[in-house]
Amino acid sequence: MDWDTLLADCVAFAQRLIRTPSMPGEEAALAALVAEELRALGYDEVWGDEAGNVYGRLHGADRSLPALVLNTHLDHVDPGDPSLWPTPPFAAEIAGDRLVGRGACDIKGPLAAQVYAGAALRRAGQRPRRDVVFCGVVQEEVGGAGAIYWAEHLDYPVELIVLGEPSGNTLALGHRGILELWLTFHGRSVHASAPERGRNPNYALAAFLMQLEAAVAALPAHPILGPTSVAPTIVKVDTTSGNVTPAWTRVLLDFRTATESVNSLRDLIDRLAGDAPHSLSYAEGLAPLAGSDALLAGFYTPPDSPLVTRAAAAIGRGMGRAPELTRYRFATDGRHFAPHGLPVVGYAPGEEHMAHTAGESIPLAQVGENLQGLVALLREF
Ligand SMILES: [Zn+2]
Repeated sequence: MDWDTLLADCVAFAQRLIRTPSMPGEEAALAALVAEELRALGYDEVWGDEAGNVYGRLHGADRSLPALVLNTHLDHVDPGDPSLWPTPPFAAEIAGDRLVGRGACDIKGPLAAQVYAGAALRRAGQRPRRDVVFCGVVQEEVGGAGAIYWAEHLDYPVELIVLGEPSGNTLALGHRGILELWLTFHGRSVHASAPERGRNPNYALAAFLMQLEAAVAALPAHPILGPTSVAPTIVKVDTTSGNVTPAWTRVLLDFRTATESVNSLRDLIDRLAGDAPHSLSYAEGLAPLAGSDALLAGFYTPPDSPLVTRAAAAIGRGMGRAPELTRYRFATDGRHFAPHGLPVVGYAPGEEHMAHTAGESIPLAQVGENLQGLVALLREF
């Protein structure tokens, strides 16, 4: 295997991907570029679907085995103010030993590595052990419509999904579930010159927030996926007039957890809010909160699972070192696959903390190492 040429070709493809912006809902040009590359590289089947997802299949040596799926999304977040970037966000310039650009690590560098791992086998005249399906999905950054469509229409057996979210070439075994809630405190609005006549709900909100961090820190942690966290993000009031006290004030609470349910978090909020009149609703469209005792789920594949053992062994032989077993801090499309009983692990180049930042970049050496790990995985798994 000529690893240097493979890496150079893979990085050149990643640059073309970055130079084709693909905000959520605007992935068609990128999907066409990926499809064209999959065909040129000798994938046996290339197709798309109604959601706008793009797929490429390499036939395995044993086509009776369930497929290995390599999944990345096609979209990226807004680059924001270009003046905050060291180089223009869609220029895809190489600075030192890193590729810089919007999507470099989340997700176009990892996407290129997944596509080129299959290409490497074709160039070497080899077949993967089982069918390999590259699966590029739309709209991950806005709720995962592409991943949901793929999982619901899946019509072939799947052994394992390898998620291309940046994991620094560790094997990421899961992440916490996400729950976003609006908590509204209700008061009585009056002229701001006579606040004693009303009830200003901002005080109840302040009292609540002062207790929130410590209360959440005291919740039990998951052994692999870590502790529950909360971030109060958006705050809104009903009034736009500076001389009127609000009738209500509302905060968006972003919880990440692997040990709590909707009901247990609601109980916690009610306890902290005390006597202050308040109500809770789901973030999307302010739908009323439906109670559930089910633990909030991201995805989780336990470290002692035979799938993890086999994948880690193959990747380890490719990289020349065993991959560390870790977790993601952020949420991924893996949460849409897990409810269908599809096992998921994350394995991709790039540092997780680079995702969604101005100046996003990926180390080229990690892309090269990831190619070696993925090629071994395709051959052996
Ligand atoms: Zn991503």
